[in-house]
Amino acid sequence: MLAGPTAVGKGTVSADVRERHPDIWLSVSATTRPPRPGEIDGVHYAFVDEQQFDRMVKRGELLEWAVVHGRNRYGTPRAAVEERLEAGVPVLLEIDLQGARQVRATMPQARFVFLAPPSWEELVHRLVGRGTEGPEERERRLATARVELAAVREFDHVIVNDDVHRAADELVSLMRTRER
Ligand code: 5GP
Repeated sequence: MLAGPTAVGKGTVSADVRERHPDIWLSVSATTRPPRPGEIDGVHYAFVDEQQFDRMVKRGELLEWAVVHGRNRYGTPRAAVEERLEAGVPVLLEIDLQGARQVRATMPQARFVFLAPPSWEELVHRLVGRGTEGPEERERRLATARVELAAVREFDHVIVNDDVHRAADELVSLMRTRER
């Protein structure tokens, strides 16, 4: 389970893992957030509306779900994850802190990995640099990031994202070793 603050590069590190280690399966979350330019339905997320998300919650189809950054809902479809785990496929979930806590409660064998920025300044720099959010949304995300950084002690492992390939390699080697 990979969690960490906004703009730390969870998406980039996960994409790097997916590209270089195709045997590791990256879960595709459902979200009520509208797609960003370049995002593909079913690849980056399953983009659903509020009613569809409600239905998934009601039917117990989500392993975990949360309102992230006080706005949109995000959740992990349960069946796809369980199928892979049963088949012995290593599964990577890229989720927020609230979701990670829910998974920890129901899947104690899961590993809890925190992706940390080299510094707070670097995190702000990356968020502004990617330019996908306006000033208001940026502030909201930084507020969540402060809370998430404070929770670092709850995690089994911390990886500093100073270099995408290096961080991805560290994550993969953690996933491939059994002992915690
Ligand atoms: P973004 O809108 O930038 O794609 O994602 C915002 C946040 O939602 C990120 O912190 C990401 O980890 C989190 N997120 C993505 N998918 C899920 C999910 O399935 N469950 C939970 N709890 N959080 C998610």
